[in-house]
Amino acid sequence: MATPLTPEQWLKALRAEGVTVQEYPGWRTRERDDETGLSFGPVRMFLNHHTAGRNSRDIVAKNGVPGLPGPLAHVYLAKNGTATMCSAGRANHAGKMAVNAYASFRDEKSTHPAPSASSGTIDGNDVAYGLEAENLGDNVDVYPREQYDAWVRINAAVCRHHGWSAESVGCHKETSVEGKIDPRGPVEGYGSRGRFAFTPAQFRADVAERLRHPASWSPGGSTSTPKPTEDSVALSTDDVRKIWLTDGVVQNPNPETADDNPFIAPATGLKNTEIVARRLERKVDALTVLVNRLLAAHTQEK
Ligand SMILES: [Zn+2]
Repeated sequence: MATPLTPEQWLKALRAEGVTVQEYPGWRTRERDDETGLSFGPVRMFLNHHTAGRNSRDIVAKNGVPGLPGPLAHVYLAKNGTATMCSAGRANHAGKMAVNAYASFRDEKSTHPAPSASSGTIDGNDVAYGLEAENLGDNVDVYPREQYDAWVRINAAVCRHHGWSAESVGCHKETSVEGKIDPRGPVEGYGSRGRFAFTPAQFRADVAERLRHPASWSPGGSTSTPKPTEDSVALSTDDVRKIWLTDGVVQNPNPETADDNPFIAPATGLKNTEIVARRLERKVDALTVLVNRLLAAHTQEK
């Protein structure tokens, strides 16, 4: 039993595991709790899917499909391995789960029986995190190496946070009583392994292997460090110049908002001491932001 990850815990766990993370606008409060009167959690497992489409990020994160409102997962995983956070609450991804299959993940059994409707069903959206990996699901479309690597990392990050084993990781086709087939398809490779077909058992073995190492580990004996995320990249000289030399660097597209935005020069012609004072205040604020970001980047390098 576990309390669902908060947005901050999601970001921290994924980044610690070396995942490149983006935040979909509004994801922190977009969920299906209030709308359904149901609540997300306690969480018991992680459920994996393929999107069966292309460019599915907006659909998964927000738009949903006819009859099924978004968000359709907690995480959308692009082909290049970038994860987009879509929700931290209840998401429409799992549908009805067979109790016999669900119990095997909840109890972290070493075997997972085929889902049987006769064992009863539960609403999987109450208890399972969901990830949608971009793939056509036609058994031809390939999961690139970077995508599979990030996929393993994301599942491991959540298991690591909750203290779960890899037996908490399942696939939609293992729990669904609605004939789901996802995820499936060829994987380009992983670690020192070449092309192989996605299987839940291999995926769990890869998550289990990862959990035996620290979050910073990379498979295949590689010692590469995680790719820097946006927040951990130090400011470039250009960024510094933009922050300091506000005037003349950024054209002011809307004079109305200039006074509230430290990065936009106030409308030309406004010349009085009050405005000069405000500009100086903004520069001090901008410098504070700069110093904090540099300190944060420095801390992460250690
Ligand atoms: Zn699915």
